Amino acid sequence: MTSLDNVASWIAAARSVVALTGAGISTESGIPDFRGPDGLWKRDPRAERLSNIGYYLADERIRRESWQRRVEHPAWGARPNAGHRALVALERAGHLDLLVTQNIDGLHLAAGADPDRLIEIHGTIRETACLGCGDRRPMRETLDRVRGGEADPPCLACGGILKSATVSFGQNLDPVLLRRADEAATTCDLFLAIGTSLTVYPVARLPEIAKEVGARLVIVNAEPTAFDHRADAVLRGRAGELLPALVEGATPR
Ligand code: NAD
Repeated sequence: MTSLDNVASWIAAARSVVALTGAGISTESGIPDFRGPDGLWKRDPRAERLSNIGYYLADERIRRESWQRRVEHPAWGARPNAGHRALVALERAGHLDLLVTQNIDGLHLAAGADPDRLIEIHGTIRETACLGCGDRRPMRETLDRVRGGEADPPCLACGGILKSATVSFGQNLDPVLLRRADEAATTCDLFLAIGTSLTVYPVARLPEIAKEVGARLVIVNAEPTAFDHRADAVLRGRAGELLPALVEGATPR
């Protein structure tokens, strides 16, 4: 297995680095992932239904439960961890062109990531979106309504069904954002996949694209992923420990 020092030297020498993060970068901030050993879907298989737009639209009970879970979501009390901060340091040192995150928790932004170099490809839990008219508002306004007794609050603009501004299974990703992520993967020469099982498509095709154009693929993850066999290096462990060491090695003072 390639050492952390080798990977740090690849980052330092790379022309363009693109990173993709998943739920694993936020577990050390107290937000469970879906498929890790303590993942939400392992502990509570019913939770998978709540992430599916078909069930959400069809069943008011699913929407009520979703709103209750949003009120209690661990993201509200979570703080960025050393992994999020290390990526900000990498970006500020000029070594990270684009960060694509599958996370909806807003912790990259909270850590200080440049919004122009960040794509929240699965959206954000920090806003609501109306599934009828598209009206968007801060999530906290709607959570106040839920706490006030509206179990399934309708859109204030059109009366339609509200949801967090996140992409559920069965919903399309924003094509403009996806194209930008694709282009970055096509032009990078080093692709970092961090804390993601690389099983959710179309995002999981980004490392494939990078490999096809000859970029190096580095995987930082606590467990094996679907792409380990294609990676140039696999760093196995906690993102909050590995990323600071990696960034320190790539950007020596
Ligand atoms: P996933 O749950 O499929 O995989 C997470 C991976 O991270 C696992 O392989 C796990 O072993 C690894 N991991 C866990 N803790 C780690 C750590 N400290 N350091 C390194 N690796 C660690 O997550 P995914 O691939 O992102 O796909 C899940 C989908 O669910 C995504 O679309 C995402 O939007 C959503 N999701 C988001 C959050 C969040 O916003 N924080 C949380 C759960 C799920």
